[in-house]
Amino acid sequence: VVKLHDIHKSFGTVEVLKGVSFEIDRGEVVAIIGRSGSGKSTALRCINRLETIQSGTLEVCGHRLDQPTLDLRALRQDVGMVFQSYNLFPHLTVEQNITLAPRRVKRLPNSQARALAQASLERVGLAEKIDCYPEQLSGGQQQRVAIARSLAMQPKVMLFDEVTSALDPQLTGEVLRVMETLAQGGMTMAVVTHEMTFARRVADRVIFMHQGRVWETGPGEMLENPQTPELQAFLSNGL
Ligand code: ATP
Ligand code: MG
Repeated sequence: VVKLHDIHKSFGTVEVLKGVSFEIDRGEVVAIIGRSGSGKSTALRCINRLETIQSGTLEVCGHRLDQPTLDLRALRQDVGMVFQSYNLFPHLTVEQNITLAPRRVKRLPNSQARALAQASLERVGLAEKIDCYPEQLSGGQQQRVAIARSLAMQPKVMLFDEVTSALDPQLTGEVLRVMETLAQGGMTMAVVTHEMTFARRVADRVIFMHQGRVWETGPGEMLENPQTPELQAFLSNGL
């Protein structure tokens, strides 16, 4: 579903991605780990074209991101993204937050959009919060609403960028459980995370990025038996 081949990306004169290649198959969960500044977020942001690439080929759900013919709107409908900051609108209820994009982008009638909001809230275990405002929810619940908002667009691929980094351990757990359920439901996911337990348990494959390159990649078990000194150092020193 997602194919990056020899992606190069620079900001000004600084090359941040130095020939990144990886693929994500349908239904596969890939965890992307690595030190701060290794290019994890940039790689993820290239996948839904929040960043443009300088060279390489990039295909996502049949959309060629390296071609001028790219239909950005169609791409964005196929790819959902959740960030560390949940970015919910404080003056809108949970339902209004979730139905905004389906109503505007997919032009769904209100009744259908509400049903969609209900269904996606059920998937994150928050159906009873549909009429709440964000400030009435915990950080973990707000992040789950952000996930539900993304799900309501019925994406084919979901990108998660350190979605639990701002949360307490307890709230982190509830968000990770939601992501695990999504994974088990067959969602195709790329997850940038510092949660090594999640990477080991839930991901089909782990990608360790280092200095703008895919340094080491393999199944979750690779974290028990790192092959490169860089991954060894990363795992023993933490971030
Ligand atoms: P972290 O774990 O801290 O989130 P990361 O692996 O996600 O790190 P990126 O955010 O991809 O790292 O950044 C990689 C490099 O690119 C960093 O050196 C960063 O300073 C640089 N960079 C990222 N975005 C921009 C930008 N918009 N303009 C200039 N430089 C940028
Ligand atoms: Mg990042």
